[in-house]
Amino acid sequence: MKIEADLHVHTVASGHAFSTVGEIISEAAKKGLKMVAITDHGPGLPGGAHPYHFWNLRILPPELNGVRILKGIEANIMNADADLDLGVDYLQNLEIVHVGFHPSCGYVSGSAKQNTSVLIKAMDNPFVDFVVHPGNAKFPIDPEALVEAALEKGVALEINNSSFLPTSSRESAHDFDLSVASLAAEKGLPVILSSDAHLYTQVGVVDEAMKIAMDAGVKSEQVLNTSVSKVLDYLTKRRNQRLK
Ligand SMILES: [Zn+2]
Ligand SMILES: [Zn+2]
Repeated sequence: MKIEADLHVHTVASGHAFSTVGEIISEAAKKGLKMVAITDHGPGLPGGAHPYHFWNLRILPPELNGVRILKGIEANIMNADADLDLGVDYLQNLEIVHVGFHPSCGYVSGSAKQNTSVLIKAMDNPFVDFVVHPGNAKFPIDPEALVEAALEKGVALEINNSSFLPTSSRESAHDFDLSVASLAAEKGLPVILSSDAHLYTQVGVVDEAMKIAMDAGVKSEQVLNTSVSKVLDYLTKRRNQRLK
């Protein structure tokens, strides 16, 4: 199994990441990737990109060095109503929207039951495309309820490579993501394997996430980012659903 698209990458605009769009795209081209999503942290994360950043993503060309660029965000959950940190006026112009829990963004972690219900509420937001790094001891959730809701709402989940690196701030991600991936494998839920790169060298690196997917029995058909066309089909479906 090999990925064609890395759908979760940060630039200097995130405030705590260290590479530019140019560095990321040339690395992606060098590694043979066909698509990269630029998904900087939303304004709710301390140091995150300003709303104008997301508005001005329009100046990025759709393709650079033969690599298709998707313009996106990793949005934050601000409160128990699962409000996001970027308004609809901005979200509607983006091609890909991730949502995930991050500390210091407004929503304070509660019980697994509470966190799960907030994440499920976030999935009801028609602009949300993917739930990222579900495994995080700081925000415990119920894997079964999450996978059930994702299936019902047609939202794919991410297996996040950076969660498993020794430098990660997300504890216990391995066991948790393995159980999410096993449930996803069993039920045929689509997933993505992403680098969550905060430095250009990490672009396209998903070895650890791939290992979890394989150990869990996830099939390559289920992994959306093994093919650019599968990614685009999925995103089109999400957008059509939004118009209903
Ligand atoms: Zn994140
Ligand atoms: Zn990220």
